[in-house]
Amino acid sequence: MTADRPRETRPPKVWAAGLPGITHALGPALRGMGPLRSARLLLAMNQRDGFDCMSCAWPDPDRRKTAEFCENGAKAVTWEATPLTVPREFWSEHPLTDLAARSERWLGQQGRLVEPVHKPAGSDRYEPIGWDEAFAILADRLNGLDSPDQASFYTSGRASNEAAFVYQLFVRAFGTNNLPDCSNMCHESTGAALGETLGVGKATITYDDFRRTDLVVIMGQNPGSNHPRMLTALEEAKRNGASIVAVNPLPEAGLMRYKNPQTVRGLAGRGTELADQFLQIRLGGDMALLQALSKRVLDAEAAAPGTVLDHGFLAAHTSGLAELTAHLADLDEEAVLAATGLTSAEIDELAERYLRADRVIVTWAMGLTQHTQAVPTIREIVNLLLLRGHVGRPGAGASPIRGHSNVQGDRTMGIWERMPEPFLDALEAEFGFGVPRAHGVDAVGTIEGMAAGRIKALVALGGNLVAAISDTGAAEDALRRTDLTVQISTKLNRSHAVVGREALILPTLGRTEIDRQATGEQLVSVEDTVCAVHASRGKVEPVGPVLLSEVAIVTRTARAVLGARPGGAGPVDWAAMERDYDVIRDHVARVVPGFDDYNAKVRRDGGFLLPHGPRDSRTFPTSDGRAHLTVNELAPVECPPGRLLLQTIRSHDQFNTTVYRADDRYRGVKGGRAVVLVHPDDLAELGLADGATVDVHGEYHDGVDRVLRGQRVVAYPTARGCAAAYFPEANVLVPLGATAETSRTPVSKAVVVRLEPA
Ligand code: SF4
Repeated sequence: MTADRPRETRPPKVWAAGLPGITHALGPALRGMGPLRSARLLLAMNQRDGFDCMSCAWPDPDRRKTAEFCENGAKAVTWEATPLTVPREFWSEHPLTDLAARSERWLGQQGRLVEPVHKPAGSDRYEPIGWDEAFAILADRLNGLDSPDQASFYTSGRASNEAAFVYQLFVRAFGTNNLPDCSNMCHESTGAALGETLGVGKATITYDDFRRTDLVVIMGQNPGSNHPRMLTALEEAKRNGASIVAVNPLPEAGLMRYKNPQTVRGLAGRGTELADQFLQIRLGGDMALLQALSKRVLDAEAAAPGTVLDHGFLAAHTSGLAELTAHLADLDEEAVLAATGLTSAEIDELAERYLRADRVIVTWAMGLTQHTQAVPTIREIVNLLLLRGHVGRPGAGASPIRGHSNVQGDRTMGIWERMPEPFLDALEAEFGFGVPRAHGVDAVGTIEGMAAGRIKALVALGGNLVAAISDTGAAEDALRRTDLTVQISTKLNRSHAVVGREALILPTLGRTEIDRQATGEQLVSVEDTVCAVHASRGKVEPVGPVLLSEVAIVTRTARAVLGARPGGAGPVDWAAMERDYDVIRDHVARVVPGFDDYNAKVRRDGGFLLPHGPRDSRTFPTSDGRAHLTVNELAPVECPPGRLLLQTIRSHDQFNTTVYRADDRYRGVKGGRAVVLVHPDDLAELGLADGATVDVHGEYHDGVDRVLRGQRVVAYPTARGCAAAYFPEANVLVPLGATAETSRTPVSKAVVVRLEPA
């Protein structure tokens, strides 16, 4: 695939949204869907009786606005709800070799998938087939495996709770826990750290807490592009007197100023300044910063005993304070400054802001979770918050911001390769079959298993695993080694072009489409990043006559696969769940804590909030019932001279691997994505000029030369020594073996690279 050089580059913007936010939302919608469909869908988006945005997992405010969506939400709807469909002749005109040479954007622009297609082994083309034939092929191939563990069942965060629950149920009835998901590649580190220290791997705040806080510290997150409605909550926090500190290697527009397009001030005025302090940290420096902050807090306490720490909370609810205090006593400030690239004065300023604030929220995303020490870094966030009791009270808490609309809900429904025993026990009790107990493979483990020939079949409920995973070259080779790949999808992407010897594409309904089953229109539900569960109802007719919902595809697959076994489909009534999703929710109510009376609660106005011990009552379901302050050994990221640390980033015009346009207007990049952003002083040291074309070589101790070719160098105000290039293209540089401790999340934010003139 030839690298698409940008037509133009400009200095990055210093504010987000504004009038351009409206034009970039409505322009594509009107061009792609026309005025009536656009109005119908955009005015129903994120509304109480509407559908949930299929993009990020930002929560909905109690008081919804008429237009309760952001620019990128509108793009996601336009992308999914296009009336354009992939014509039958497309498959004979485009063999796999041709599809594999196409960009993600071109593949997605071909329209909605509307009929099942099959690529037989030995053939280079997909052919349309009927559903019955598709399920028969699935049953024959999956039952033909030597063991259920030779198959892996991937889930993207778009799947609804109902689809996720029946999917994990089918996979476990099939006999494996191979249930990797997109969370393995994003917030797995969050789940591991919060689960260990607080007992719950989820945010400890609600939407309202942003209105009641005094300080929001935003770490490793670019809300302007990845969670844009968060800017409205930040604007509200500022209006209520809060201050904001942004910690990021890149001066992202959405951290600096917000021109709320739903206000006069935002449309005609200067909007709202967001960050009161911007810390341009070095990649991988966050753990050192957090330790330095906690040390300053402990020093302040030592200087005025009893006046800084929340002793009542610490004594009643935590453990580990003495060990933490002893550990940080010897923290080396010089090492902190080297790791962070910051000054002591900058860190002092943040520490003073923290000490002045009665209520503090820390938010984060991939900029923290995709590092080798991601888990201890997030444990350090917990340390800092616990010292002054910023958990379990209004306006304060830990707030990981999830990037996919139902990635959290899927996990809650059992999509995880290592679900805890109580969940598996409850599932077994509810459905009366022996549930497998051995942990399955995660996303990286799935690719490793394929490469080693252990995993012979992949079934994917949505998503684009081959593009989203690290080490693209190795991943594509591994995929092509499998016997069967199955994609349940709405639109084409690279995972339909890079496939196993045999492949199936099963087209499914989008979230905007009405889901009719035997008992009538069905609602589905999702869980957002603050544990709020709400309903989602499609609003337009399905774009194709034979499309099936995710639930229908999964339950029919289960009946076909399990039904073909000796003894038949077993005790689970799959058909009943397909006919009426209330049946699914009744099962969930008996298996998943917090979902009692699910069918009634999900139909409440705005849905319901899941219980959360640390948030609700400072109850910490950890090994000792206490929140854990932890001691973490700092291992700064080393970068040899003449090399840079590179992070993969998303542009403003993409969502995960879906590329809407080849622009990134907040960062000043237009008409191309083949860029590497580098600080001008680093370019000078490297003897390179803005505009040069380079090959970016990833350096890792396995000696493999991973190369991202033909990138245009863009002089950019990044942190010194740090570079950036777009995901998923730059995944080619991230070794499969480079994963975070404990969570095994790919280390996509600190890749050692060298730039060579192309
Ligand atoms: S903030 Fe996220 S969930 Fe909300 S409309 Fe935008 S993309 Fe969708």
